Amino acid sequence: MLRLPPYRYHRPATVEAALELLERHSGDAMLVAGGTDLLPNMKHRLFEPGHLVALKGIGGLRGIREEDGHVRIGAAESLAAVAAHPLVRARFPALAEAAAHVAGPQLRSMGTLGGNVCLDTRCTYYNQTAFWRHALGYCLKKDGTVCHVTRVGRKCVAAHSADTPPVLMVLDALLVLAGPRGTRDVPVRDFFVADGIANTRRGSDEILTEVRVPLAAARRRTAYAKLRQRKAIDFPLLTVAVSADMDDEGTVRSLEGVVTGLGSRPRELAGWSEAASGRRLDGHLVDDLAERAHKQCHPLENMIVDPEWRRAMVPVYVRRALERLRDA
Ligand SMILES: Cc1cc2nc3c(=O)[nH]c(=O)nc-3n(C[C@H](O)[C@H](O)[C@H](O)COP(=O)(O)OP(=O)(O)OC[C@H]3O[C@@H](n4cnc5c(N)ncnc54)[C@H](O)[C@@H]3O)c2cc1C
Ligand code: SF4
Repeated sequence: MLRLPPYRYHRPATVEAALELLERHSGDAMLVAGGTDLLPNMKHRLFEPGHLVALKGIGGLRGIREEDGHVRIGAAESLAAVAAHPLVRARFPALAEAAAHVAGPQLRSMGTLGGNVCLDTRCTYYNQTAFWRHALGYCLKKDGTVCHVTRVGRKCVAAHSADTPPVLMVLDALLVLAGPRGTRDVPVRDFFVADGIANTRRGSDEILTEVRVPLAAARRRTAYAKLRQRKAIDFPLLTVAVSADMDDEGTVRSLEGVVTGLGSRPRELAGWSEAASGRRLDGHLVDDLAERAHKQCHPLENMIVDPEWRRAMVPVYVRRALERLRDA
């Protein structure tokens, strides 16, 4: 049996009190929302914070509503609530679908949107017990000096493995971060960095309080497709989100695609709008875009499945997402 390391559990009622706890226990505290990723990681001794600051008791982190031209989703809202909410389903069906495809039902009831956006990266050589990792001599991301995937350099390439951020990116969503110096807005597009060790721009003293999706994005068609081993529960091996602005005749004005599950951050596929604008989203264009995605994506051995197979799946899932978008 894997046991949790000892820690003190704090349950603040406000964001300010949570920030104060982070400051007081700086370097030895972590935030916990649903705990569906953090607690298994603690059992694996990937994190051993002396203090956990719980977010679920903070009323200000709840609520899904229209506000100032956005749909505002509190960071502590569960994925199940996001997936089921009538406003999200009506305005941003691809976001509801992505939330509904995270893990399984129990994990979606506990897991939050904020935890999904701030999810740690994953790798075959990292998401293992301390005993397993010790036997291998650990790795660069935690306690070691080498990367077993690239075997060279000082870079971790663990995979960004969260389902909602690619959709939030094509919807131009904003993240609101609260910290000791006040709050700031960060577009989801700018939030992730290509560093598998810490792949976001969130400071360790900051809390993601809400996600704001512009209502204007509801005019675009969006779709989402996910590859995973077991459809009932697994993390993505590949997630594709697509979004298009099309006129009434079905001619594309702009089109974009984001993939994740491959490298340390979600990746915007290059050159899609140039290739698609002024054209109809017919079979030729879908094939063209799928081929472009295949050329741009090179999965690594950071997951348990064969990278060549995962690469072959890129055009398959891009095609599926685009066909859903066409029929949306
Ligand atoms: C079997 C299994 C399958 C899974 N499958 C998937 C999957 O298919 N797709 C997927 O995306 N995920 C999957 N997950 C991971 C996880 O369940 C979800 O990503 C979930 O949304 C995480 O949210 P949480 O609230 O439980 O996060 P937690 O575990 O509480 O936190 C995760 C991280 O985010 C930080 N954090 C949490 N909330 C905030 C906040 N508001 N501000 C700043 N930092 C914060 C925590 O400090 C921690 O570092 C799976 C997990 C398991 C165990
Ligand atoms: S990509 Fe390399 S450094 Fe990063 S977790 Fe995997 S083995 Fe470790």
